[in-house]
Amino acid sequence: MAKRKPKNKQELPSKSEVKKKRVKKVAKKRVSRVEKTRNHQTMTEAAFFNWIKNSLRSRSRFWKPISACKQNAKRPYKGVNKRQKFEYQCNLCKNWFSDKETAVDHIIPVGSLKSFNDLSGVVERLFCEIEGLQVLCSNCHTEKTKQDLINIRQ
Ligand SMILES: [Zn+2]
Repeated sequence: MAKRKPKNKQELPSKSEVKKKRVKKVAKKRVSRVEKTRNHQTMTEAAFFNWIKNSLRSRSRFWKPISACKQNAKRPYKGVNKRQKFEYQCNLCKNWFSDKETAVDHIIPVGSLKSFNDLSGVVERLFCEIEGLQVLCSNCHTEKTKQDLINIRQ
């Protein structure tokens, strides 16, 4: 295991410097400054809920329906690239792509997490079973994400 790099004390600004900077910022942006209400006054509401959502997302790496969905779309690759062993079918355009060119998509978008009221829905959609998932190529995924955003705004 790699040892953590020790913090270089000289690189850190002194306490008075930090204070000065903070005072300057407050004076400049007093009106638009968002109050840090979470995590011992270090996080805004938005930062807090983003942090929660990212934590959940990182757990979905171990969610088996996601890897199973990808496995189901897989076949041996027989093209010219000798390093590529498998290819995956996009559920929308039905073409075949490499591992890197594809991603598992939530058919019903997970949606944004802005308050505790959104939490149960986000968890339910993020950790859905295999029927709620599909493999998409980068192009189709980009298009779908765009469309999802339009649908949310309507
Ligand atoms: Zn596609």
